[in-house]
Amino acid sequence: MSIASNISAIKEETGRVNVKLIAVSKTKLAEDVMEAYQAGQRIFGENVVQEMVDKYEQLPKDIEWHLIGHLQTNKVKYIAPFVSLIHSVDSLKLLIEINKQALKNKRIIDCLLQICIADEETKFGLYFDEAIELLRSPEFSELKNICITGLMGIATNTENPQLIKNEFYELSVFFKGLKQTFFRKDENFKEISMGMSADYKIGIELGSTMVRLGSTIFGKRIIKYFKADNNTSLN
Ligand SMILES: *Cc1c(COP(=O)(O)O)cnc(C)c1O
Repeated sequence: MSIASNISAIKEETGRVNVKLIAVSKTKLAEDVMEAYQAGQRIFGENVVQEMVDKYEQLPKDIEWHLIGHLQTNKVKYIAPFVSLIHSVDSLKLLIEINKQALKNKRIIDCLLQICIADEETKFGLYFDEAIELLRSPEFSELKNICITGLMGIATNTENPQLIKNEFYELSVFFKGLKQTFFRKDENFKEISMGMSADYKIGIELGSTMVRLGSTIFGKRIIKYFKADNNTSLN
């Protein structure tokens, strides 16, 4: 299967249920991104700031770039001029920095709060109570150059579909609760980014509005980093 035919097949599937497709192009070459672009894909996700900046510079300017990986505060300035959506906001401190850099660029940057739903310590994200605390804080209410458009979550990497279902269910229930409590009159708060290649069908079943697919589109990634102590790839 080619990248182009993968894109058409998945677009067909996600389009039918009105779910946005984020093509995760991390570790892939600009020419692979171009193949997907030529097949009509316009939203791409990256998890490393430098890689996203390089691709932004090389590739057509109508691409929407989504940052999906952990973001360090000191790197926000590199993506603030062009990023379309940051899926991985996991602290108030990071949000304050995004707001500051957005203001410098005279922009409003859309952000998702990343919620920790997996029972693995390695995953980044806010716990439910931390997300609520963030939304309640007076500092948050002063941020005028960011817009929280929803939540993102990564399920446990497991063969057990019931566990994934439970985690995605919790995320969608939490989304509804936050919508009621903090965003009732805010129509921007509407996205749930949940689902990767292995579990996107479950994500869609449980109300996902955006799926982040890498290997399903581009094929397997070469694992760039390998941590021998716990067998976790970090790419
Ligand atoms: C790499 C990555 C994806 C895509 O993973 P695939 O299994 O290749 O679809 C999705 N979301 C995040 C946060 C990622 O880091």
